[in-house]
Amino acid sequence: MINIGVLALQGAVREHVKALQAPDVQVTVVKKVEQLHDIDGLVFPGGESTTMRRLINLYGFYEPLKAFAEKNRPIFGTCAGAILMANEIVGQMEPHLSVMDMTVERNAFGRQRESFEANLAMDQIGEDVEAVFIRAPIINKVGPSVNVLASYDGDIVAAQQGPFLACSFHPELTDDHRMHQFFVKMVREQAIHA
Ligand code: GLN
Repeated sequence: MINIGVLALQGAVREHVKALQAPDVQVTVVKKVEQLHDIDGLVFPGGESTTMRRLINLYGFYEPLKAFAEKNRPIFGTCAGAILMANEIVGQMEPHLSVMDMTVERNAFGRQRESFEANLAMDQIGEDVEAVFIRAPIINKVGPSVNVLASYDGDIVAAQQGPFLACSFHPELTDDHRMHQFFVKMVREQAIHA
């Protein structure tokens, strides 16, 4: 049995809990720092990255989350969650948790494309993966140890760096749970080696 947490300070939590369901997976809604000790992997949901960051500071999550990442515990950030993971944010002096070597640009699809759906061909995950974009960021630069998993219209929208996985869209809002299954597999593999 592995235990995967969903950070529940703000944003689309319930849908992630549903998408992570598997016979050997226990899902924990994480509202307290102490819960980080019991989990093997963690999801940062979408929402509003600036609000999430404010709540991370307010509830004392900042250092514990950094420590969680330093132990190479897998983290999956979706949309605002991916913004929290980047080590550079366009137009901002400081990043948030800085766990992945990538630059993100917030709300990068502009007003015309505030929210839309697309089918993506994703490396390691599959063809025609359903993706819902909502005021989504793009990943406009990645470091040498980051693998690009998907692009849309030439922009990177999903990437992996070791135990860390990020995507610009909301994979929890469709019934296509292949990205969650991929993350569950990452957590299982890491838990064996821990
Ligand atoms: N636009 C939001 C941000 O910058 C992200 C949107 C989302 O998570 N759906 O944080």
